[in-house]
Amino acid sequence: MSDVFERQPGLSDLEFSMQETAHRFAKDIMRPAGQTIDRMDPELAFAKDSPYWAVRKQFCDLGLHLGELIGEVTPMEYSRINGLIAEELGWGDYGLAGSFFAASFPAYLAMMSGRPELMEKFHYNQIGCWGLTEPNHGSDQIDYSQAISPHARGGEASDCVAVRKGDKLIINGQKSAWISNGYIADVMSLFCRYDDGDNKNGRAAILVPLDLPGISRGKNIYKLGLRALPDSEIFFDDVEVPFENLVFGPEQYPHVLRGILSGGSGPVGALNTGLARAAYELALNYSKDRVQGGEPIFNHKNIRIKLATMFQKITASRALYRHVMEQNVYNPELSYSVSSAAKTMCVETAIDVTGLAFEVFGGAAVVFESGIEKLLRDARTGSIGEGQNDMVRLLASLDL
Ligand SMILES: Cc1cc2nc3c(=O)[nH]c(=O)nc-3n(C[C@H](O)[C@H](O)[C@H](O)COP(=O)(O)OP(=O)(O)OC[C@H]3O[C@@H](n4cnc5c(N)ncnc54)[C@H](O)[C@@H]3O)c2cc1C
Repeated sequence: MSDVFERQPGLSDLEFSMQETAHRFAKDIMRPAGQTIDRMDPELAFAKDSPYWAVRKQFCDLGLHLGELIGEVTPMEYSRINGLIAEELGWGDYGLAGSFFAASFPAYLAMMSGRPELMEKFHYNQIGCWGLTEPNHGSDQIDYSQAISPHARGGEASDCVAVRKGDKLIINGQKSAWISNGYIADVMSLFCRYDDGDNKNGRAAILVPLDLPGISRGKNIYKLGLRALPDSEIFFDDVEVPFENLVFGPEQYPHVLRGILSGGSGPVGALNTGLARAAYELALNYSKDRVQGGEPIFNHKNIRIKLATMFQKITASRALYRHVMEQNVYNPELSYSVSSAAKTMCVETAIDVTGLAFEVFGGAAVVFESGIEKLLRDARTGSIGEGQNDMVRLLASLDL
């Protein structure tokens, strides 16, 4: 397990070489940079001289955003490579990995539109973000069905609205402090209330450049973990975008949001599996060095049970995210109850495994140098993105 490059049976040459590239990048570049950014002042962590920018450049130069692979490989190969890379990047640093994944979202939405003019304007070299959550509507926004939180349906229950005026959309309001990459993004996939005159309370997905007049941002928030992922509020004051930037309107919106949450579950599962693997490897190595009771703690049965439990949870987590990603290719209409299992179960694996690693380290776990306390903070922080697990399970229950 600690040597992922015992090549797994069934990987093609391309899959293996991409996995190997991602692993080297995660080990040599991401992990040290993530640890540095974790300890930086949040105001300086994304300044021009921050390590973030060099790491981001290398990520793009290595083609790890996979933009160039689209259309070049089959959807199944793409999905397998996506999972392999996400696990390696999550192993390197979940915060940086989360930032790189969120960055692609507007380009992905433009691609979903199938409209060349949008694909030209919103591409993989930009830093993107997803503006869904609002200060007064977190779980409400994840609820694509509006069956769990029906009271959140009314127009007054929105903090952000796009109003159609002829061939323009005028956007007012704000998105919450949790917008991943919000502090640095060039472009946003804005999911918000949409008023077209007839329907005042629809929802729409709109592509928005973030350098337009009327847009401002909050501070990079200081978080428990994932500090290499810059989050901030974004404010809109009479911001104008062309109507053609509206990608999906009220009719398609619930279906599209459900599809995005389902499609995102596999990669989120892979990131969490990678993070759990990082904690397991640190604990395994430590257990062989640390001597107590006259021998390495690895020889104590309770420690070996913990390590085996961690290993088994990671193995199950990997099998699950791969299954979900594969099923999503065969059946894009896959039920949310199936696909969201990768989000909830792999998140819980990361929380459980970092907790067990913490116990294996004993007192040494609490210091930064152990590496464990950061992984524990990262796992906890990452668990809420794409919906707190109760909300995800409530939505999954609608498919049962
Ligand atoms: C690290 C991180 C990254 C994020 N990145 C993004 C991003 O890029 N873009 C974005 O838009 N958002 C992002 N988010 C926001 C995230 O999606 C929300 O935090 C999440 O959906 C929960 O919303 P909330 O924080 O407002 O919690 P709340 O909705 O206030 O929920 C609080 C608690 O109440 C429960 N609850 C709420 N409503 C119900 C209900 N109807 N029935 C039963 N229980 C309920 C929840 O399960 C939870 O336990 C991110 C969050 C984090 C922490």
